[in-house]
Amino acid sequence: MRTDPLSYLGEELNSLKQQNLYRHLRILEGEQKARTTFDQRSVVNLSSNNYLGLTTHPKLRERALAAIKEYGVGSGSVRSIAGTMAIHMELERRLAEFKNVEAVVVFQSGFAANAGTVSAVLTKEDVVISDELNHASIIDGCRLSRAAIKVFPHKDVDAARKIIEALPAGQRKLLISDGVFSMDGDLGSLPGLCALAEETDCIMMVDDAHASGVFGKNGRGTIDHFGMHGRVDIQVGTLSKAIGALGGYVAGNRNLIEFLYHRARPFLFSTSHPPAVAAACMAALDVLLEEPQIIDRLWENTRFFKAGLERLGFNTGLSESPITPVIAGDGATAMKLSDRLFEEGVFAQGIAFPTVARDKARVRTIVTATHTREDLQFALDKFDTVGRELGLI
Ligand SMILES: *Cc1c(COP(=O)(O)O)cnc(C)c1O
Repeated sequence: MRTDPLSYLGEELNSLKQQNLYRHLRILEGEQKARTTFDQRSVVNLSSNNYLGLTTHPKLRERALAAIKEYGVGSGSVRSIAGTMAIHMELERRLAEFKNVEAVVVFQSGFAANAGTVSAVLTKEDVVISDELNHASIIDGCRLSRAAIKVFPHKDVDAARKIIEALPAGQRKLLISDGVFSMDGDLGSLPGLCALAEETDCIMMVDDAHASGVFGKNGRGTIDHFGMHGRVDIQVGTLSKAIGALGGYVAGNRNLIEFLYHRARPFLFSTSHPPAVAAACMAALDVLLEEPQIIDRLWENTRFFKAGLERLGFNTGLSESPITPVIAGDGATAMKLSDRLFEEGVFAQGIAFPTVARDKARVRTIVTATHTREDLQFALDKFDTVGRELGLI
C-alpha cells in the first residue's frame, strides 16, 4: 500500500498545533445574530459582518421566500449562457442607481468580483500599485493578471507617488485600495489616492466590502462618504456583509461592465446566484433607503464600544469603523484572549499570521446595529476580566 501522498499536510497541522495556532471551526447553531449560540455556548457575537442585522430581517426573508416560490432555487447556468435572469438584471439596475454609476455587474461573491475584475482588466504588460494591507482577493486578482505588483506602505500616498513616478510613461497603471481595511478597521487614504490617480493617469479602484451599508448616505460606501462620486473608475462592493445575503458587485461605466461580461472568469465560468439571493439583496436596498436609522444605531453602538475598550486601556489601533481590533501581540496570546473570552460568553475571533503581521496578532471585534447596550457592556466587562488575567491591561 502506498504511503499517503498528503501526509505532509498532517505535519503542517501538527506544527500549527504546537504553536497553539490550530483552529477549530466554531459552529453556529441557529441564526446569525448579535446574541446567539456557537458550540453550544450562548455568546455575545462580535465576530460577524452582519453589521445591520439584515441576515434575519423580515423583509429579506419574505422576498427571498417569494422568489423561491416564483422562480425556484437555482439559476441553472453561468451568466453568459442561460443563467442571466430578469431578477439579476433588476438587482444590477437598482445597485447602479444606488451607487450613482452607469452600470453594475454582480458576481457570486466579493472575492470573485475583485479577483475576476483585476485579472480581466490588466495584462502582463501592466502594473498594479497596491496598499500593503489590501484584501487577499485583490492580491489574487493581481497575481492572476500577471501584471507587475508594486506594494506601497499602508495608506502612504507619497510612497505610492514615488512608485508611480518611477514607472515608464505610457505603462497602464491600476491604483488600488480597500475603502475600509478589514483587519484594522481604518479607512484607505482615498482622497489622496484619487487625486494621485488623476494626476498620474492611473485607473483608480476601491474595494468597499466593509463600507457597503456602513459608510456614506444610506450606506453607499466610502466614495459617497468622501464626496468622490465620478472619480473612482472601479468600485467593488459586497452583498455578503452588511447587505446580509451573498455576492459582490463592480460599479463603473458601461464599457467596464460590458467588458467584464466578456472577460471576467467568474462571470463566464461559474454559475450565477439563485434568484432568492438577488431578491434578498434588493430587499436589503429597500431597507437601507427606508430604514436608515439602523445605520445610525450601528454607529452609536460603535462609539459606545470603542470608548469602552479605550477606557479599559486596550491597544485598539487606528480604527475608524465598527471593526475594532484588540491588539494582543503574538499569535498565541491573541488566541488565548479569544478562547478565554469565549469561555466567558463573548465570541471575538483571534486573528494571527499570515492574515496579519506576526507581532500584530489580535482579537477582532465587530459591533452591529442589533447589539443591545447590555450585550456590549457584558462584552466590555469580560474584556476587562480577561485582559487583566493575560496582562494586556
Ligand atoms: C470580505 C471582503 C471581500 C470578500 O467579500 P465576500 O463577498 O465575502 O467574498 C473582499 N474585500 C474585502 C476588503 C473584504 O473585507
